[in-house]
Amino acid sequence: MSTFDRRIVIVGDSIAGCTAARELRARGHRGPLTMIGADADGCYARPPLSKHVLKSEAAEAERWDLSDLHITSIVDRAVSVDTDTRTVTTVSGADVPYDALIVATGAAARRIAAHGQAGETVLRTFADARALGSRLNQARTAIIVGAGFLGMEVASTCAFRGIEATVVDIDAPLERLLGSFLSESILLRAESASVNFVRVDRPVSLLGNPVVGVELAERTLAADLVVTCAGDVPETSWLDGTGISDRYGVGIDERCTTTVSNIFAAGDVAYSRTAPAQVRSPFWSNAVAQGKVAAASALGLDPTCAPTDDYFWTEILGLAIKVVGPLPLHGDPTVLEGSVDDGSALLQWNHDDGRKTIVAFGMKKPVGLLRRLARESAVPTT
Ligand SMILES: Cc1cc2nc3c(=O)[nH]c(=O)nc-3n(C[C@H](O)[C@H](O)[C@H](O)COP(=O)(O)OP(=O)(O)OC[C@H]3O[C@@H](n4cnc5c(N)ncnc54)[C@H](O)[C@@H]3O)c2cc1C
Repeated sequence: MSTFDRRIVIVGDSIAGCTAARELRARGHRGPLTMIGADADGCYARPPLSKHVLKSEAAEAERWDLSDLHITSIVDRAVSVDTDTRTVTTVSGADVPYDALIVATGAAARRIAAHGQAGETVLRTFADARALGSRLNQARTAIIVGAGFLGMEVASTCAFRGIEATVVDIDAPLERLLGSFLSESILLRAESASVNFVRVDRPVSLLGNPVVGVELAERTLAADLVVTCAGDVPETSWLDGTGISDRYGVGIDERCTTTVSNIFAAGDVAYSRTAPAQVRSPFWSNAVAQGKVAAASALGLDPTCAPTDDYFWTEILGLAIKVVGPLPLHGDPTVLEGSVDDGSALLQWNHDDGRKTIVAFGMKKPVGLLRRLARESAVPTT
């Protein structure tokens, strides 16, 4: 059988899975294509959830229409895969056979509640965003655990909605990703928007059952709402015992192939097993790139792009931050244009290995230009 006629099953119908489906058809796959997704809300983009959906009850999720791809869509949770018989089994008992399988099950919000502790609020899905949005309607005060990009976006929404927000973390805002130079600037902006910060020296635990606050080393903090933004964990439990995943996620190579034949993986669930460290890069652009590469590999074709795309963006306190290049950032950048203090700057970091990271900090610049600057050795900005 030609690879173009194979039965291909994609588990996970978010951006990695949907990109893979579109790429499969675009590259000539004409065989049966099945997509299994556990979320009753279907296919939608997550980045707007924390940027727009939380701000307005009227905001809808950004959904994708795949009806032109002639997919069999199954709304169900995959619970296991048999790599000998090549069958995925779902929670409602359906057995779905495949010739090639693409794992795109992403990640779930990392939770920090103790066993049996109720009321932990997280933000990963559209349902989470709806639930959090209605809690925000009632809240005057909020605690956000985690000062990464998601925690800072939730804190920004609180500031926008006039809710007094306190962000708790071991590190300063976005410091782990963007380094101390930008972190300090973000901290100043946040403080001037009345977002408070509490630095702790160890992970906090949640207070109350249901949750009403956080326990710090020597005191407790309480608020109307507590939101955990403490990272994510790869969704691999359905792969247990297959050898496809390990404690880091699903290891992939440059072609998004896993260690099991005819099984490919893409997106937040995946980490590079050819890189020195087993770290996932759970960002949108990587999920898109890997979706395309996994699809090409499932057809036995050469991919049209690399399996990594180091473009990342966030929006904090009205400031759009676009980053192209390796992270994390260390030390001070060269200011190519504008001023960080004014909230509008184009910045360049030079890494020891010769690579560069370009950041548009509140300055409107097309991503294509940032990509070009990151690749070039000179630094023209127009
Ligand atoms: C609120 C929010 C804001 C974000 N903002 C940004 C941003 O500004 N910039 C950026 O670069 N990145 C951002 N991200 C990260 C980005 O959204 C992710 O990198 C991207 O969604 C990863 O896509 P994915 O398809 O790999 O996984 P996911 O989006 O996690 O989707 C996986 C899908 O698989 C399904 N699934 C899981 N297990 C099973 C199973 N066993 N059976 C069937 N289906 C299953 C899930 O229901 C889900 O729909 C944000 C993430 C969140 C949560």
